[in-house]
Amino acid sequence: MTALTIVRGDITRQQVDALVNAANSSLLGGGGVDGAIHRRGGPAILEECRALRASRYGRGLPTGQAVATTAGELDARWVIHTVGPVWRPGGDPSLLASCYRESLRVADELGARTVAFPAVSTGVYRWPMQDAARIAVDTVRGVRTAVEEVRFVLFDDRAYEAFALQLG
Ligand code: ADP
Repeated sequence: MTALTIVRGDITRQQVDALVNAANSSLLGGGGVDGAIHRRGGPAILEECRALRASRYGRGLPTGQAVATTAGELDARWVIHTVGPVWRPGGDPSLLASCYRESLRVADELGARTVAFPAVSTGVYRWPMQDAARIAVDTVRGVRTAVEEVRFVLFDDRAYEAFALQLG
């Protein structure tokens, strides 16, 4: 059984096996969670991201997929980078669900037992918070994984309350 937990806070302060980055497909850094992870995690993460761009992901990491790197100086073993979809009216939720599913698949490959997620796509990518929370929680509940704890790390009250509502 995977325990789903929520905390209000900064994902870069979490002590977990793996933390998930709401990256963009360039893998070369951005704002929001991405910026915070690279700032606190140090240059080793970007170095591995550059190597991924030079090899497997020459055209970037496609939306809905996930790939791991070192966590650098963060209190974790790995960062799992996933690229959420940009919201648009009538947007297809399957790519957002895929971010959670693929990140957990990568976590299982790594042998991670505790994984922290931000609310993927709800920042610069504008996905409505309630809908994003429902997709996140439903997807994680539906995945078969050896991960023991999935911790949603929510940055503000609005995000926290949306996820709390879903977890009931
Ligand atoms: P996206 O481009 O996928 O929308 P963002 O990083 O812009 O990603 O935002 C995703 C969510 O993460 C937003 O709800 C934002 O408020 C939140 N967030 C921003 N910084 C942090 C952080 N350090 N820890 C946890 N959540 C964060």
